[in-house]
Amino acid sequence: MKNFDPATNIQRLDGRDACRGVNPAISDSATFTFPKAHLMTDTFHGETEGYFLYSRHWNPSNLSLCQALAAMEGTESAWCTGSGMAAITCALLHEVKSGDHIVASMTTYGGTFAFLNNYLKKFNVDCTFVNMQDLDAVKKAIRPNTKVLYTETMNNPLLRIANVPELSKMAHAAGAKLLVDNTFTPMIFSPYQLGADVVIYSMTKFVNGKNDCVAGAICGSAEYINSLIDVNSGTAMLLGPVLDPMRSSSILKNLHTLHIRMQKHGENAMYLAKRFKEVGFKYNYPGLPEHPDYALFNEMCNKGYGYGGMISIDMGTADAASKIMEIMQEKGVGYLAVSLGYFKTLFSNSGKSTSSEVPEEIQKEMGMSEGLIRFSVGLDHDIEATFQLIKESVEESKR
Ligand code: PLP
Repeated sequence: MKNFDPATNIQRLDGRDACRGVNPAISDSATFTFPKAHLMTDTFHGETEGYFLYSRHWNPSNLSLCQALAAMEGTESAWCTGSGMAAITCALLHEVKSGDHIVASMTTYGGTFAFLNNYLKKFNVDCTFVNMQDLDAVKKAIRPNTKVLYTETMNNPLLRIANVPELSKMAHAAGAKLLVDNTFTPMIFSPYQLGADVVIYSMTKFVNGKNDCVAGAICGSAEYINSLIDVNSGTAMLLGPVLDPMRSSSILKNLHTLHIRMQKHGENAMYLAKRFKEVGFKYNYPGLPEHPDYALFNEMCNKGYGYGGMISIDMGTADAASKIMEIMQEKGVGYLAVSLGYFKTLFSNSGKSTSSEVPEEIQKEMGMSEGLIRFSVGLDHDIEATFQLIKESVEESKR
């Protein structure tokens, strides 16, 4: 960017540059003109810079958002998709062919699990699910045809942390790539800088933070992103999961407040964790020393953004969880809804919702209780009042 100093985040404007909107203009166009015919051909061959061909490939609004995402991740480039699942499926399909193998975390978002476990079978791609925290198990699962190690940095819904530097070494030693879904922990972890090859987001969650759309992102090296959008062989270009430019521009505006929102989500979740501990709830939060990955979290995180907005409590049974969630919604704790990263607190019973694609025996194997309530803690100003409402809801449910 002209006159932009990344060290200070200051952009000096002069001349005509000083006469424009503070937000990039929305580029509401599917196709773009070329001043010369040969430039169009050259762009098809990936031999030009600064020209736009067609919005399924690149669009100025998507580019503005992707430049901001790349700056956030410390990657050379990024590309945005119409949903988090579009980002995940596109990034995975780009790496594998029939006969290949993937090693994936047993604990992931249910849609990701279903894609790896069910859908990829259609293409004769096999997946071994392991406990990603058990590095020996990961090592044992790697085969000569393993092309991808796949994990979430903070997993859904158990909130365990993946050792990205170690997994990266293992992947690279085996000639495979490490793909990491960082949806729960933007700003907090920078997986690419820790050794991951590709970082994926469901921007539907914290990154956008407004629950007004679904969207996703794939971040990586310039070479990798260019290969994704290659007109002959790029999975993104050929499957066409691109994000609409109108949406890119609205997400970009929300991205500017992400660091503040992450701090507040984390501050509120930490407050609830401490209060849950005091009153003896069976809680799970990676920001307290009793969490098994507390030390790893501190080694890997970017300081100052907290420990994330996700927390869970275990109510023992699915019936107990349902009763408490209904009372919490009535009392105004937040909404009984899937998803996360919203300004209001959202809660759901993972086993019966966002992990319901995972067979019950695997839920048990990964240690997921059927009474688990996952909270995405909101930006509440008075979090003690929220805690009191949760406590009352739990007490009332037992009457
Ligand atoms: N990754 C994680 C960790 C998620 O929790 C979800 C959805 O809940 C997704 C990916 C899928 O994202 P989307 O719903 O935007 O397709």
